[in-house]
Amino acid sequence: MRFSDIPGLGRTKDKLRRAVEAGKIAHAQMFAGPAGSANLTMALAYATYLNCTDRKEGDSCGQCPSCTKADKLIHPDLHLVFPVSAAGNKSGKDVVSDSFVAEWRQFALSSPYGGSVEWSMAFGGENKQLNISREESRNIVRKMALKPYEGTYKVMLIWLAEFMHPTAANALLKLLEEPPDKTVFLLVTNDAEQIIGTIFSRVQMLRIRGFDNDEVVNYLVSQYHLAEEQSQKIAIACAGNLNQAIKLINDGDQDTRTSFQDWMRTCFKLDYIKMVQASDQFSKITKIQQQGFLQYGMSTVRNTLLSRHQMGQLIHTNSAEKEFADNFAKAFSNAQLEKLYNLLNSASYHLERNGNPKIVFLDTSLHVGSTFRT
Ligand SMILES: [Zn+2]
Repeated sequence: MRFSDIPGLGRTKDKLRRAVEAGKIAHAQMFAGPAGSANLTMALAYATYLNCTDRKEGDSCGQCPSCTKADKLIHPDLHLVFPVSAAGNKSGKDVVSDSFVAEWRQFALSSPYGGSVEWSMAFGGENKQLNISREESRNIVRKMALKPYEGTYKVMLIWLAEFMHPTAANALLKLLEEPPDKTVFLLVTNDAEQIIGTIFSRVQMLRIRGFDNDEVVNYLVSQYHLAEEQSQKIAIACAGNLNQAIKLINDGDQDTRTSFQDWMRTCFKLDYIKMVQASDQFSKITKIQQQGFLQYGMSTVRNTLLSRHQMGQLIHTNSAEKEFADNFAKAFSNAQLEKLYNLLNSASYHLERNGNPKIVFLDTSLHVGSTFRT
């Protein structure tokens, strides 16, 4: 991650660059920003910048051995800590970041603006309570006692530090106050108010605002090749939350809308032959497209429930969307829609955990059909 990969936020980037140039690198810094902000990406870009051996024009070079490793989140001096919960065969003392680091790398590289819910889905945490445990803090202390391997700085990045258990936080106080030389703590948080006061007083605060409309538009146009007009609508709907903006992209996709509407009709008619055909089609698209399709369905159902409460104009990104949601609202009760939402959510969850797409989709179709008929 480089500063230039993050849309806008020039003043925040300047502040970090100037601190490095002046040799005034905070040994413990908190990157606090709302959900879907650049708090994680900024911390990663800063960590990369710190250890880059060929900084250029106020950014890391992206090409030196240090940058190459930092880009893949495999730099040996970039230590990653994040909240986890028991999952699969990992329980007890194994419920620490090191056990899930491969999953987290994949998550952070593909969804750098994602939050705890997406992360929990990604590693199969089944929405269990996430936690940065006392055991984790022991690992942190142990790792920080080592000399840097390759880099100038050893960086300990703690993502979503608000999930830190008080005993873990207390175990880190001394280290935060008197860290070893050339050691940098970067605490990333979506909710600074939840961080206990004793930690708070030991870190330098860097507030990161949510993205503004232009920044969201630039990002969607350059990264997702979206039309300017569509990007504008999404920018307004997502209110500075880039995670939300990326989810909304599928809302504007006509193909997704058409196939979701067709599927709902098939389910309503309990047309088994078409259900099987649709499941076949579904299994042939990519995993990301499958998730996008289900996310689209969930946001449609949510919009429908809201439009029933006459809040529709607040959340629709276009008129075709509104028409579909209105029709949906007329045909089904709140209870049916809530059930539909849960079925889509559970399909998404099973696919995330490598369920067979054909089976998951067919099973969901049958349940949706019977929900509509009750
Ligand atoms: Zn470099």
